[in-house]
Amino acid sequence: MHSETIALHAGFDMDPATHAVAVPIYQTVAYGFDNAEHGAALFNLEVEGHRYSRISNPTNTVLERRVAALEGGVEAVSVSTGQTALYYAVSNVLGPGQNLISVPQLYGTTHSLFAHFLPNTGVQVRFAESDHPSDIEKLIDRDTRAVFCESVGNPAGNIADIAGLAAVAHRHGIPLVVDNTVATPILLRPIDHGADIVIHSLTKFMGGHGTTLGGIIVDGGKFPWAEHGERFPMFSQPDPSYHGLVYTDHFGPAAYAARCRSVYLRTTGAALSPFNAFLLLQGIETVAIRIDRHVENARRVAEFLRDDSRVEWINYAGFEDNPYHPLVRKYLGGRACSLMTFGVKGGFSGGVRFYDALKLIKRVVNLGDSKSLACHPASTTHRQMPPDVQLKAGVTPATIRLSIGIEHADDIIADIDHALAAAAAAFDLVDKDHIRHPSIEGRQ
Ligand SMILES: *Cc1c(COP(=O)(O)O)cnc(C)c1O
Repeated sequence: MHSETIALHAGFDMDPATHAVAVPIYQTVAYGFDNAEHGAALFNLEVEGHRYSRISNPTNTVLERRVAALEGGVEAVSVSTGQTALYYAVSNVLGPGQNLISVPQLYGTTHSLFAHFLPNTGVQVRFAESDHPSDIEKLIDRDTRAVFCESVGNPAGNIADIAGLAAVAHRHGIPLVVDNTVATPILLRPIDHGADIVIHSLTKFMGGHGTTLGGIIVDGGKFPWAEHGERFPMFSQPDPSYHGLVYTDHFGPAAYAARCRSVYLRTTGAALSPFNAFLLLQGIETVAIRIDRHVENARRVAEFLRDDSRVEWINYAGFEDNPYHPLVRKYLGGRACSLMTFGVKGGFSGGVRFYDALKLIKRVVNLGDSKSLACHPASTTHRQMPPDVQLKAGVTPATIRLSIGIEHADDIIADIDHALAAAAAAFDLVDKDHIRHPSIEGRQ
């Protein structure tokens, strides 16, 4: 079936207890056992069923099956946020002394997780010079356990060569983990191109309404964990924390997801609330048609910005002359995402003035809401990074990131038009030589 249909039906027909056709919210912590034997069978994973909602919940299960189906994976694990999904997904294959190779273009908090948090747990993260597969391969050694990229980098807007990265990872017997938050499975299914694990912040386009945090880890089911048992003994050797369970024996292709659930979700517990799973399911029902409108509106806004003399530059992968355009054709069916960055004339100060003048478009650090959103990374999401690291992440002092929503395109453009006028008027009044990036000044 097609994504539009999967988004409405996968993982649920009707409620077995009541025949409700909407997915019920199972707001419960625990599930009764028929008797001791039934309880034991559940704990031994001999029969299917739920025990405790930190580990699994029927509402969450529908969400997991639906997103797994949309991504073409075999199983998924829902968690409280996208950050949890990232942390669990990479930790599930890494141990102290081992390393992860990442592309440099990352969501700000993912960069913090990789550059600061994981090293404190003994895991090294190496950032490649670029997202080119050959730059990734240079850093791989015998202790490398995974390659990581965002399918569409945020906010750089780069598109990862997923097939190329997967080929490099697989040549070294390690999986490719992809954050597919910005693209969504409507535009791109990384597993179809060789990715092994896909994660999402469901908080963004998937939920789509800016109401609910959530994350998910999708297991592609194809990585041969047992074949690479020396590198990944945790999947094919008995797990002492789960009375000797062998994940590859018991769960077959879903071994990775099963371990993610029974080690990470069960013992560290960042579970998704079933109410949030319900809200995210409501959003996912319409994700395909929302993405159509996001993509269409983004093109109109990008064309407006390209033709406006108050704009210094625009980075929108939908344009033929964008370096990533061939990859938009290859991976996104020619449909560039609704995220774009551009520079207002006047550097940091021009960017701030434009940003402050917006009326309809919301000033937030979010993306993927139905509403149009704007972010000034140099003063917010990327503020903690030194300027050279900002530049590597695709952020200049003037950069504005837009996440174009599903309002009428004319109204979005009218707001941008008047904010550009405000930025230009203010800019003419100041001495241009004194406009400097505050984070650079702070360091000098
Ligand atoms: C927002 C986002 C995250 C983090 O998700 P949360 O749900 O906010 O924790 C991770 N990756 C990308 C690309 C994001 O946009």
